[in-house]
Amino acid sequence: MNKRYWSARIVNIAPYVPGEQPKNRRYIKLNTNENPYPPSPKALAAARAAASEELRLYPDPDASALRGAAASFYGIRPTQVFVGNGSDEVLACCFLAFTDAQTPAVFPDITYSFYPVYALLFGTKTRIPPLREDFSMPVEELCRNDGTVLLTNPNAPTSLALSRAQVEDIVRANPDHVVIVDEAYVDFGAESAMPLLARYDNLLIVQTLSKSRSLAGLRCGLALGSESLIAAMDAVKNSFNSYTLDRVAIAAATASIEDRAYFETTCQAVIRTRDAAAARLRALGCTVLPSAANFLFVSPPDGNAAALFAALREQGILVRYFAKPRIDRFLRISVGTEEEMQTLTDAVARLI
Ligand SMILES: *Cc1c(COP(=O)(O)O)cnc(C)c1O
Repeated sequence: MNKRYWSARIVNIAPYVPGEQPKNRRYIKLNTNENPYPPSPKALAAARAAASEELRLYPDPDASALRGAAASFYGIRPTQVFVGNGSDEVLACCFLAFTDAQTPAVFPDITYSFYPVYALLFGTKTRIPPLREDFSMPVEELCRNDGTVLLTNPNAPTSLALSRAQVEDIVRANPDHVVIVDEAYVDFGAESAMPLLARYDNLLIVQTLSKSRSLAGLRCGLALGSESLIAAMDAVKNSFNSYTLDRVAIAAATASIEDRAYFETTCQAVIRTRDAAAARLRALGCTVLPSAANFLFVSPPDGNAAALFAALREQGILVRYFAKPRIDRFLRISVGTEEEMQTLTDAVARLI
């Protein structure tokens, strides 16, 4: 490709590769950690109502209704809430707000693979300590107070979670830097760092409506933190796009957050299905890490994850395989419905 007109910033970039969204054939889709259950009916009704003639008008640039709903859900002030077009955008704003030439980004080698892409795009230096051999977090390496820490908890793609006390150790050890805890999967059974917000003004929690609220297609993410951190995020956002969330998204996301009962019921269903599927896979001889997320990190008995990935695909089941050192013996399998997971474990039983 001729890159003659490309800026120096992007000419050598390796963009993030999202999981496949197949268009040709119907798969059981267990490859991008989507929720198998539909969004709250109240969210869908709000989206339909918002798809009206009012789309003539710009949306509220502050998305005040949504910030208010999130603030009451979490028991904080609306000025402690930032909203963005998916948490990917929220994380991009974090890089611009909290890293610079003097402030590197610090994150482990095996974690959400968008972090190194942002670092390249924004020219941020990095320090990347390896996860331990058993995939646990190198907590002491994240306690060196030498940069902005990015901690995915539970981690992806390993599904392992730190306790709130361990997260607090990291936040306390970095008084001069922001610690960003990406809690994309926390609602599936891990301890959220939310109760720590009252005591640490360097803690920023990032959440998304894509996983536990079944709204990946809507694009809505949140950041929760001290007023100063949120003001920094708003300064970034208002320097590139005043209207990151449209009217439909603001309405549906607000209604979704307000529907606490539906959220709790669907999270519990995913957790039940996850634990039952993990038990069946272990009984087949697979290694399955203890998951606090809506996916399982699974190694087949012979360690040949690439072959199992291809064979499952043949059978119409899509999972995620990362051809990367250290994790190439594992598959990441999103938790679908009970029926989908039964089909998956039956297929694994036949194939291994
Ligand atoms: C899915 C995911 C996100 C992105 O979520 P969106 O809100 O859909 O952009 C962010 N962080 C992690 C760790 C994720 O797994």
